[in-house]
Order: sequence, then structure tokens, then C-alpha cells
Amino acid sequence: MSETDNLIIALSKGRIYKETLPLLKHAGIEPVDDPDTSRKLILDTNRDDVKLLILRATDVPTYVQYGAADLGVAGKDVLMEHGGEGLYEPLDLKIARCKLMTAGRVGKEEPSGRRLRVATKFVNSTRRFYADRGEQVEIIKLYGSMELAPLVGLADRIVDVVDTGNTLKANGLEPKEHIADISSRLIVNKAAMKMKHNRVKALIDQIADAVAKSQ
Ligand code: AMP
Repeated sequence: MSETDNLIIALSKGRIYKETLPLLKHAGIEPVDDPDTSRKLILDTNRDDVKLLILRATDVPTYVQYGAADLGVAGKDVLMEHGGEGLYEPLDLKIARCKLMTAGRVGKEEPSGRRLRVATKFVNSTRRFYADRGEQVEIIKLYGSMELAPLVGLADRIVDVVDTGNTLKANGLEPKEHIADISSRLIVNKAAMKMKHNRVKALIDQIADAVAKSQ
């Protein structure tokens, strides 16, 4: 790894990609391909030494941790699940904001005589949240459509990211407890921060400037 190697930035499709583009543009980086129409997973940019990787959101911290990407953009919810090993998190990009919350059926009390059953894809954050409160709960790992679980009796609660709360409401659920405020963060591989310091530092500074101007 050296200052002359490519600088690889890992992003996920959708909201994060769309909201990160103007920040990258401010830093002088513009993709040549559009991930919505191109099937390429490595996108060229206007800068010969900068490439973008298009990944699943939950894989972004892993690619950056192992140095397959030098930098990345990942939601705090994803980073809390990953644990942050091998990563610096130098910048809150203040995009894709939402809240990690517990939710349950409107007006439904906690069950008595047994442990609360909580369905979520955020297993680690959920375990930590209830452990910090001294509550022993049964966690059921799901991969999507968490809102369904309380409706069909699979779980008493879900833990999910909530923006407007409309999805909860449409399914007869209500937010219960606030776990964390979520936004997307710039993450950097620890070795890349040293070995590619000049370019990484310049990029962080330019993106920080774009974030400040966008607020
Ligand atoms: P809501 O606006 O609360 O109805 O959210 C709509 C759906 O998008 C829900 O299923 C949320 O899980 C999801 N969601 C909302 N905000 C975000 C975000 N910032 N990142 C990822 N998923 C989100």
C-alpha cells in the first residue's frame, strides 16, 4: 500500500450513494458510470487513481476493515453491528438520518411470565441495549420485513431503523424506546490512513467542508 496506489471508496447503492455523490463532487470526485444503469461493481471516476466499489450496505465496513477498500460510507446502525474493528470513523456525514428504536403493537403490554421476544436484524445492538438495562430477552434474527413479526405473534418487539414512523404506523406498531440516533459515517481503513495519508487526509478535509456547507 502506497501513496501511488489507487484510492478505493466503498459505497452502497440507493440512499447512501445518492446522498454521498454531492459530497464526493465537492472533493473533485465524480463517477464515470451510473450504478443504477451499469452492472459494474467497480466504478471508474474522473480521477484515474480513485475507484468506487458498490457493495451491500452491511458489507462496507468489512471491505474497509480488511483494506480491500481504503474508505467507505456506512450507516451508524451498520457500524454498531460490525463493531468498528480496524476502522477509523473520522466524519459524521449527517446524511440518511434516522433512529434505531424498539417498536411493538399499539397498546400491547409486555408479556408476563416469560422473556420478551425481540425480532431484529440488529442482533448485537439489540443485545447490548437490553443488557445495559439488565433485561434478559430472547432475540430472533430476521433479515427483513421486521414489522410483520409482532403481527403474527413471532415477537413482542422489533428493533429497526425508523425515519418518519409511517411504516410502523401502517402496520399497527408504535415506537417504544430510542436506542440511537443514526446517520452515515465516513470510515477509513487504519493502515490506509497511515500509508495513503496525504490523499486520505485531503479527502476527509474536503468532505468535511462539504458537510459543513450543507448544514
Ligand atoms: P419510515 O419513514 O419510518 O416509514 O421508514 C421507511 C422504511 O425505511 C423503514 O422500513 C425503515 O426501516 C427504513 N429506513 C428509514 N430510514 C432509513 C435509513 N436512514 N437507512 C436505512 N433504512 C431506513
